[in-house]
Amino acid sequence: MRRLNVRFAQIEECIRTSLFAVDVLPRNPPFEPGELLLLRLVKDDAVKHGKLDSRIEFALVFDHVVEDPDGSVSRKSWPNAGKVWRYILVCSETVPTLPFSLERLGLNRDYAGQGNAIYIQPDDEAVVRTMLQPVPTASRPLQVAHADVLRAIRNFDRIMRDAPIRETTVREHQRVLGDPFLSDALKRYYSHRCQICQHDFTPRYGVPFADTRVAEPKEARPRVLSTNLLVLCPNHNSIIGAAGALFHRAALEYRYPNGLAERLTLTEHLVA
Ligand SMILES: [Zn+2]
Repeated sequence: MRRLNVRFAQIEECIRTSLFAVDVLPRNPPFEPGELLLLRLVKDDAVKHGKLDSRIEFALVFDHVVEDPDGSVSRKSWPNAGKVWRYILVCSETVPTLPFSLERLGLNRDYAGQGNAIYIQPDDEAVVRTMLQPVPTASRPLQVAHADVLRAIRNFDRIMRDAPIRETTVREHQRVLGDPFLSDALKRYYSHRCQICQHDFTPRYGVPFADTRVAEPKEARPRVLSTNLLVLCPNHNSIIGAAGALFHRAALEYRYPNGLAERLTLTEHLVA
């Protein structure tokens, strides 16, 4: 895992294209395919945009390097940067993280500074990786603001909307980013409560428990966005399937063939 520095003006392109540019390649250790590269906003921009506590919201999954000897790729990808780079890091995908800053994680080492592609030591990487898993583990319950979980959900959608379907060698099952991130983030956001009946397993059983369900399965999208995923208790998830209830988006309710309608009572992630 590495920490990159990126300017606000360039991050959009990095997220959309999963490309990054550097002048020097690290040697010890060199980049590894599959390695996570954290896109960290430079400090000036983080201050300007009120993101000192959330300088990292995205990571790239490194795939390979191409040289850019005449700067043509640099200029095409970052036309307003006013400079070109020697190497382009071609990544297989962009993934969202829970918004965080390395300085706030209590890591063993300091990763501050201007340098790029700074290697994150394995013990610190283990801590950072908890920011890629929305549901906290028992050993390390994460303190993440409610609004930041929703932000990560919106970032997930942004990646899915903007990312072109890439013809790469990366197969779907090898991708880092899958539905677990979105499902887990939504479950965390609603504290594992059913969006219809608000049932919560935790008080009685001591463990959070919920399902997620695609609201409109016939929507022809290659990947599910948060706007089409709901957190439900296993009862509701099952009966909707068994009864053949259909989701009506405008009313935010499920309608059953016998005439029953059940409205969602928790809807924050579905409304702008
Ligand atoms: Zn329910």
